[in-house]
Amino acid sequence: MKDRNQNESCEASGTDEKFMRQAIKQAKKAYALDETPIGCVIVHEGKVIGRGYNRRNTDKSPLAHAEITAIRKASRKIGDWRLEECTLYVTLEPCQMCAGAIIQARIPRVVVGCMNPKAGCAGSVLNLLHVERFNHQAELTTGVLEEECSGMMKQFFKELRARKKREKGKN
Ligand SMILES: [Zn+2]
Repeated sequence: MKDRNQNESCEASGTDEKFMRQAIKQAKKAYALDETPIGCVIVHEGKVIGRGYNRRNTDKSPLAHAEITAIRKASRKIGDWRLEECTLYVTLEPCQMCAGAIIQARIPRVVVGCMNPKAGCAGSVLNLLHVERFNHQAELTTGVLEEECSGMMKQFFKELRARKKREKGKN
């Protein structure tokens, strides 16, 4: 126990990468459905208790974001709407809805893969995780496996553009 604090910082990044890889695995499920590849896992006491990936088009729902699904599943698993002592890992910076849900769920720590300059609400457009006037703030770590996460997005949009171009050519 006495070495815990000493070890925590160097172990933290390895653990973060391990769980970010699981979030990437979720993002690939979205990719397989031609959805923007965004994935999320929620970890409690070293175990994944909720997983989610973007299904916005598949479910025809603006609420079908990776984080919302993962939060719903984690809450069901824990039997409480409060996800205290959990860490949320997400491949892309959360939007305003998801950052709001993170605060509502009292999640104390969020780990982000790559940023979303045009829509992110964990530091890009806004930082809803660090508003002091709210009753809860979440600790934030960004840039974990960033290249892998952003590479996945770039690949998806590149293919999408190519597909649109091909479809346009047909007409
Ligand atoms: Zn979202």
